[in-house]
Amino acid sequence: MKTQEVKKIFEEYVVGNYKRLDVCLVKGKGSKVWDIEGKEYIDFFPGWAVSGLGHCHPKVISAIKEQSKKIIHISNNFLNLKQGQLAKEIVKASFPSQVFFCNSGAEAVEAAIKFARKWGSSKGKSGIVTMKGSFHGRTLGAMTATGQGRIHQDFPPVPEGFSYAEFNNLKSVKSLITDKTAAIMLEPVQGEGGVQIASQEFMKGLRKLTQDKDVLLILDEVQSGIARSGEMFTYQHYDIEPDLMTLAKALGGGVPIGALVVSKKVKEEVFTPGSHGSTYGGNPLVAAAALAVFKTVKEEKLIKYVKNLEPFLKSELESLQKKYSFIKEIRMLGFMCAIELTIPGEQMAQAALKKGLLINCTQEKVLRMMPAVNISKKLLKRGLTVLDQVLSEVKLP
Ligand code: PLP
Repeated sequence: MKTQEVKKIFEEYVVGNYKRLDVCLVKGKGSKVWDIEGKEYIDFFPGWAVSGLGHCHPKVISAIKEQSKKIIHISNNFLNLKQGQLAKEIVKASFPSQVFFCNSGAEAVEAAIKFARKWGSSKGKSGIVTMKGSFHGRTLGAMTATGQGRIHQDFPPVPEGFSYAEFNNLKSVKSLITDKTAAIMLEPVQGEGGVQIASQEFMKGLRKLTQDKDVLLILDEVQSGIARSGEMFTYQHYDIEPDLMTLAKALGGGVPIGALVVSKKVKEEVFTPGSHGSTYGGNPLVAAAALAVFKTVKEEKLIKYVKNLEPFLKSELESLQKKYSFIKEIRMLGFMCAIELTIPGEQMAQAALKKGLLINCTQEKVLRMMPAVNISKKLLKRGLTVLDQVLSEVKLP
């Protein structure tokens, strides 16, 4: 089959809620992917940051293979060996906590919102303060939590009780906190928002504020978690711990899994039997894959690897900035990188695609790259050379 034939099937049978590129990817290995015609691409944005270990990591494949021969799914009425082991790994890598499993980032965020509301119900607290420019997912609650009007404007009525503060502005958050506020939720690095990085002062200020006001601090690490920022979880850059943390994307190495991590410092029993659930959440297959992700990050020392390569990546991007006047700013933490432009970037992402490099354009003027955390320096360099060529061909208005 050819791309155009697949496109026809999509036009006829698949709901058109995505702007899809005319490329049908059928194979991936590490940081390379191939389309149905056999064209090769370097992938600097693997699966919207899901394939954090690159595509088809052998350890993930083997875990899925082995587990699928034993049992793929069991209901959450039963004890589940792999889910238990995975929860233990997550807790060991983060803070004293317990874990609830679901299937996606939005579901992890929904779980966090429901948790905060139930936690606050006896205290008359239900408000959730989130940040402008944030992205938390597409379900009703997660969508409403997202601080971008265009995401929720077509879906009234949306759930009540959400308000939006300026990111990196403690005063703005303070002004929205009332005695009805149950939680503050934010991404430590706003991904969709264009790789906006929380300052030390902001994050520490929020932790103190939430403690003083008896408000939960929820960190959405769906995009920034699992070694991506040069720590296993991005909050670890800030010398604080959240009360709740959401995970998904790279957690499963490509299979759908989400998680809500609940600090033991939250003393109240909130998610009691019957209060929340998910049929598939953390089934043996996805939990086995996620365990392989944790094992690989550890065995291949990928946190150190990201830390070591970050200065190289940064200096390469900075030299692009020196070369091209239309680059306004470089922002990055680990392998979460943004090139902010003074002009729209979508056509540059399209031009990169034509030249065999996958990158993303967000917020109109931001080129976003989230290469796999194990990408080789050689491939990183090759991709950056392609990017340089793309930028050199930009015709300024
Ligand atoms: N939270 C953050 C920070 C995200 O970046 C995303 C997706 O991009 C989500 C939540 C939603 O995740 P999902 O698309 O898996 O529902």
